[in-house]
Amino acid sequence: ARALGLPWSVAELETADVRERQRQLQLEQALHGALERGEFALHYQPQLDFASGRIVGCEALLRWHPPGLGPVPPVQFIGLLEESGQIVEVGAWALREAARQAAAWERAGLPLRVGINLSPRQFLNPQLPRHIEQALQASGVTPARLELEITESLTMHDVEHAIALLRRFRALGVSVALDDFGVGHSSLAYVLQFPIDALKIDRAFVTHVTRGRTDRAIVRAIVALAQALGVETIAEGVENQRQCDFLEALGVTQAQGYLIGRPMPAAALQELATQYRRAG
Ligand code: C2E
Ligand code: MG
Ligand code: MG
Ligand code: MG
Repeated sequence: ARALGLPWSVAELETADVRERQRQLQLEQALHGALERGEFALHYQPQLDFASGRIVGCEALLRWHPPGLGPVPPVQFIGLLEESGQIVEVGAWALREAARQAAAWERAGLPLRVGINLSPRQFLNPQLPRHIEQALQASGVTPARLELEITESLTMHDVEHAIALLRRFRALGVSVALDDFGVGHSSLAYVLQFPIDALKIDRAFVTHVTRGRTDRAIVRAIVALAQALGVETIAEGVENQRQCDFLEALGVTQAQGYLIGRPMPAAALQELATQYRRAG
C-alpha cells in the first residue's frame, strides 16, 4: 500500500479495526450491571430564553464513567445500550432522575423545564407510558416541566402509532420536543400532525447561520413553521455570540449550546440559572 502511495497498509487498517472491535467488546462487558453500580449520571445543559433573558430549561444528557475506563461519550455507548435492550431500563432511570431533579428545582423556587432524550427502542417499548407516569408520581413534579425529546426517525415507520403515543404523553401533561429538526426526511404535512411543544433546530444549521444563506433560509423556514404551530424553537449547538444574535433576529425563541453553557452537574446548572435571574 505504501508503494502505491496510500497512507495506510492493509495490516495497519486491520489492526485499527481489531482495536476498535476490542474496545467495543470491553465497553459491552463493562455495561453489564453499570446501572446497579451507579455508574450513570445526568448532566444538564442550559437553555436561554431570548424574551426573558433567563435560563428557562435544560437538557438532561446521560454520562457514563466506568471505573478504570475513563468517561465514555454517549456516541460510544447509547448504541450499545440500544442493541442490547438495556436502554429501556437505563432510560427509565434517566426519566425518574430527571423528574426528581426538576421537582427539586421547583421546590427551590426555580421552575426549570428538563428535556430528556428518548431512543427508538424506548419509544417502541410498551412500558414507556408507565415509566413516565411513575417518574411523575414519584417526583411530584409539574408534568409540563418534563419535556420528552424525540427524533423524526423514531416516528417514521409508523406515524399513526407515533401520533397516538404522543397524544398519550400529552394527556399525562408532559411536553414533547422534536429533536435534531431539519436533518430528517419528514415532510411538512407530516410534522403538522404531531402534537408537539417545541422544535429543536439541529446544530448543522446553527453552525453556519452567520455565513450560509441556505442555512439561514432553513432556520427562517423552521421559525415560520413553529410560529404557525404556536410552538417554541430551540437552537442547538450555539457556540458564539454572533450565531446567538443572528438566531434571535431570525425569531428563534431559545438557545442551547456551549456559549450559554456545557452540559454540567445539577448544582452548577442551578447556580447558573440563579445568576441569570439576579442579573435580570
Ligand atoms: P442530542 O439530543 O442532539 O444532544 C445534544 C448534543 O450536542 C449533546 O451531546 C451536547 O453535549 C452536544 N452539544 C451541545 N451544545 C453543543 C455545542 O455548542 N457544540 C457542539 N459541538 N456540541 C454541542 P452528547 O451529550 O454527547 O449526546 C449525544 C447524543 O446522545 C444526544 O444528542 C442524544 O441523541 C444521545 N443521548 C444523550 N443522553 C441520552 C439519554 O439519556 N437517552 C438517550 N436515549 N439518548 C441520549
Ligand atoms: Mg436531545
Ligand atoms: Mg438534539
Ligand atoms: Mg443534535
